[in-house]
Amino acid sequence: IQNLLHPHFAVKAMQSTDIFSVGGSLSVNAHGMDHQAGSVAGSIRSMRVILADGSVATCSPTENTDLFRHVVGGYGLFGVVLEATLDIVDNAVYRTSREIIKSDDFPKFFAEVLEPNKDIGLFYGHLSTAPGNFLEDMIVYRYDKVAEQPPADQPEIGEPGSVGLKRVIINLAKWGSLFQELKWFTEKTLEPKFESCTVARSSAMAEGEACLVTRNNPMHDSVPYLFNDQMEETDILHEYFIPRAAYVEFITEAREILRNQTLPVLNASVRIVHREDVALSYAPEPAYSLVLYINQPTDAGGNARMRALTRALIDVTIKHGGRFFLPYQLHYTAKELLASYPELPAFLAAKRQYDPTELFSSTFYRAIKALSGVA
Ligand SMILES: Cc1cc2nc3c(=O)[nH]c(=O)nc-3n(C[C@H](O)[C@H](O)[C@H](O)COP(=O)(O)OP(=O)(O)OC[C@H]3O[C@@H](n4cnc5c(N)ncnc54)[C@H](O)[C@@H]3O)c2cc1C
Repeated sequence: IQNLLHPHFAVKAMQSTDIFSVGGSLSVNAHGMDHQAGSVAGSIRSMRVILADGSVATCSPTENTDLFRHVVGGYGLFGVVLEATLDIVDNAVYRTSREIIKSDDFPKFFAEVLEPNKDIGLFYGHLSTAPGNFLEDMIVYRYDKVAEQPPADQPEIGEPGSVGLKRVIINLAKWGSLFQELKWFTEKTLEPKFESCTVARSSAMAEGEACLVTRNNPMHDSVPYLFNDQMEETDILHEYFIPRAAYVEFITEAREILRNQTLPVLNASVRIVHREDVALSYAPEPAYSLVLYINQPTDAGGNARMRALTRALIDVTIKHGGRFFLPYQLHYTAKELLASYPELPAFLAAKRQYDPTELFSSTFYRAIKALSGVA
């Protein structure tokens, strides 16, 4: 879709990387770098869905709304999306910049800088994973709109740049404290110099680190640099959604949990999500989310450590009224699942109505069904 829309238009809402299918994205109600657009649910005009009985239904925010609320963020359990009509936006030109703030100041930064400034089209909050200031300092990457449309001579969306450098940086985190410090130093100082500016700089910008890109460029941050082909270790994503007022207390406690365990935290970032009105919502109220990328050995001991860590992070999330993201590992307990998603029994009852023979199933479905005690 990005290739078809480029150079004049861009996707409105999607993940922060672009390797996923449309159906897979709608079915987890994906969210990413556009903090104004929010998740994909808000960009869907309508969908055609084939149901378990073979009939095809159209649903949208105003038509067949119950089906719509169950298919979006419904993890593929209510039907197969055949077709979706999505909002798109201009492929605006952004001036990139970054600044380092204290993580605890993020809510203030959001309220005073990000939220009021409607020209900030994309944002990415990257937390330090260096032991010296673990989850304390944060690089805020900003994309400020400088033009609605790019110049006519835009190149095709190319392959993401600096893959080798990014791969080295992410791997540094696995080699101990000193290398974690080096990673943070590199992220602060070296990475900006390798940023690919896809729109020609004006002479006024030649001196600085600012760079001009079109929206499609940062939204094409594919993930080759994350590919881990090691057999004995793997990298696991986590995401926790926290009501905005509880962010600082949550980060304080999450920091302690992560410091007092041994799995290397490769990446930590903060996202903004809005209230999501779908049947099984990860954000029943506006939230910030903490996204973690954590390395583990692929043996029983590694799994046990990751399970214990996941449960500790889920518990602190629940304590602060938050929820965890369901697409990732199935390490949660029944109690944690139901405390995070009290709507789960109603969601599963609706599943039985739409799909009485359980035509649409998955490992995930069988797990959440068993955990919720449904026969
Ligand atoms: C490296 C990485 C980064 C990620 N970053 C983000 C992020 O920034 N934001 C975010 O929100 N999520 C993120 N995710 C999670 C990601 O959005 C989900 O895992 C998403 O479902 C993956 O899409 P997919 O195309 O791979 O789907 P699949 O894994 O193929 O499917 C996922 C689910 O969607 C269902 N499905 C697929 N196609 C259809 C269809 N046509 N109709 C109905 N159901 C369907 C499947 O049944 C399944 O339940 C990330 C995941 C990874 C691995």
